[in-house]
Amino acid sequence: MSVGVLAGKVALVTGAGSGIGRATCRLLARDGAKVIAVDRNLKAAQETVQELGSERSAALEVDVSSAQSVQFSVAEALKKFQQAPTIVVNSAGITRDGYLLKMPERDYDDVYGVNLKGTFLVTQAYAKAMIEQKLENGTIVNLSSIVAKMNNVGQANYAATKAGVISFTEVASKEFGKFGIRVNCILPGYIDTPMVAVVPDSVKQEVVQRCPLGRLGQPEEIAEVIAFLASPQSSYVNGAAIEVTGGLK
Ligand code: NAD
Repeated sequence: MSVGVLAGKVALVTGAGSGIGRATCRLLARDGAKVIAVDRNLKAAQETVQELGSERSAALEVDVSSAQSVQFSVAEALKKFQQAPTIVVNSAGITRDGYLLKMPERDYDDVYGVNLKGTFLVTQAYAKAMIEQKLENGTIVNLSSIVAKMNNVGQANYAATKAGVISFTEVASKEFGKFGIRVNCILPGYIDTPMVAVVPDSVKQEVVQRCPLGRLGQPEEIAEVIAFLASPQSSYVNGAAIEVTGGLK
């Protein structure tokens, strides 16, 4: 967005060790925020922080699907910067694709646990912390996906969780508005990250052909929209689900 617009703010980003989460940490730091990089993979989160500098950022090992782990992160985040984050980005996410008739219960549970329950646990814990500390102008950004609308064969678990994130976001925006906390979500198209690296080339080619801009997106192109939603420049945007897909429907 613009340099310095987030000065004095603390941001917490989940899934910060890779892809969109890492790009988001970079851009929020560029705009002046202190950044807490959260990931189940501590080494990856530490690599993100190394780039940003340890005075302005910290890495935490957190499994967003575990309430205990998320609670631990709240205490650690407060310790690090003596202030609850007022910017929270729920970017941790996984896929376990497979046809419905063969989908193991475990794959359904894992995807649900990270993508939807994780978004719930982090949102609840950090909204509570903001409210308890009477911090105003909170902003929470959730990662849904255009798959929530495309409903691809072989992605029942992923599509359902990402559709759930849209509804969850809208309810949260209605409940938290009175506390000055805005909640929005983004529906990225196909973005060039490790998550998409495992998608078969034939599928990627088809996506590129169908996309009006004729290419995959870059993580920074999602992070720029997240940075906008995190900033006061989006002060009247609340409960929105924004497609960032290059026009892919
Ligand atoms: P990625 O695989 O590059 O990064 C995801 C990160 O989340 C990893 O660092 C991983 O370690 C972390 N993570 C996984 N489970 C976790 C857990 N339980 N607790 C904490 N961290 C955990 O993925 P990405 O492409 O950057 O995707 C980021 C978000 O954007 C996801 O929610 C994804 O569903 C969504 N999204 C991505 C695309 C895309 O094309 N890449 C498209 C639409 C939506």
